[in-house]
Amino acid sequence: MMDEPANLAEIRLAAGSDAKRERYVRQFVNRFLSMEGVGVMLLDSDFRIVEVSDMIVSLCGLPRADIVNKHAERWFDEVGLQPRPFDRSLLEGQTFRNRVLNWKQDKQVHMLMIDGESLTEGEERTGAFVLFRDVSHRMALEEQVRRSDRLKTIGQIAAGTAHEIRNPLTAIKGFMQLLNKSLRDRDMEKEQEFVGIVLSELDRVNDLVSEFLLLSKPKELRQVSMRVGGIIQEILPMIRNEALLHNVTVIYYPKPEMPPILADKELLKQVFLNLGKNAIEAMDGGGTLIIRECCSAEESNRVAVEFRDTGPGIPPEVLEKVFDPFFTTKPQGTGLGLSVCQRIVDELGGSIEVASDGGGTLFVVSLPCS
Ligand code: ADP
Ligand code: MG
Repeated sequence: MMDEPANLAEIRLAAGSDAKRERYVRQFVNRFLSMEGVGVMLLDSDFRIVEVSDMIVSLCGLPRADIVNKHAERWFDEVGLQPRPFDRSLLEGQTFRNRVLNWKQDKQVHMLMIDGESLTEGEERTGAFVLFRDVSHRMALEEQVRRSDRLKTIGQIAAGTAHEIRNPLTAIKGFMQLLNKSLRDRDMEKEQEFVGIVLSELDRVNDLVSEFLLLSKPKELRQVSMRVGGIIQEILPMIRNEALLHNVTVIYYPKPEMPPILADKELLKQVFLNLGKNAIEAMDGGGTLIIRECCSAEESNRVAVEFRDTGPGIPPEVLEKVFDPFFTTKPQGTGLGLSVCQRIVDELGGSIEVASDGGGTLFVVSLPCS
């Protein structure tokens, strides 16, 4: 057999690898079009939609056949994208990157980052493509990190100052009680009343400092293996008592088969008490508080406790602030309850989440099993 000329062999090789390349590119494109969390839209030179990936189809809730071939501007209107996330200037080569698009789908808001670029064939502009990335999850994680950073700072301040505040408070309280006794002996009723007010205000400051102290890093976390149900049983009488005063019914669904968790009992009690108290305070005209233990199916190494109330719910602009230290909507609130919950749950390696609508509010505490 005669040797083939070198250039022909090269052509063969190139042709072979072209086919291979094409196969891989095709496989990639197919996979890419069905990926979750990343979407792509192809547009022709008339600004009509040529193709969309599965993510876009599921986000806009229209069948693919209703999207493809539609003019992009009409599609924006139909899916309610206002203001329009991009326009025809994209076809003229106006590239954009990391444009933020908040896409409302039912009750959920997806935060998307979009990039757009035109397509060309030789000199001719043939259309454009737009890439959509769903960054909601990453944003939520970043928010959690920011939250716990903020809490750490406050915790440090708390650790440094709370004791310094509490010590003089104890002295003031002691002398006020002595003063009160002398006033009583002299039948000075008006003055006694004043001292009574001072004493109850001192109690309020003391409570605040106690909460503040909980924000500082506990000196030693006493993590013991225990059942979450046992902790709830212990605080339930306190919650029921408070509920009775506010005309609230408390329903508790225990789950005895839940695996044990590793936690600090006293701290965890504080978390559940705070959540119970908030729920009851939210339902001033009466209502129902449901406390439920559950294991999430996806995360088998975690257990969760839900606090669900039938209160007025939390409007979205308030919802994003409820974990902020000192944020409160109550005249007598400290705004530290949920910060403390967050701090403690963080410390225990768990997480705390909130969801709310007009029908009430749900707080879920999830904790790692031991
Ligand atoms: P505080 O109870 O002192 O106000 P928290 O940190 O415990 O502080 O709560 C912060 C805010 O979150 C409350 O003032 C309230 O507006 C809101 N909130 C918390 N829990 C609920 C709930 N179950 N229902 C409605 N609003 C709530
Ligand atoms: Mg509270």
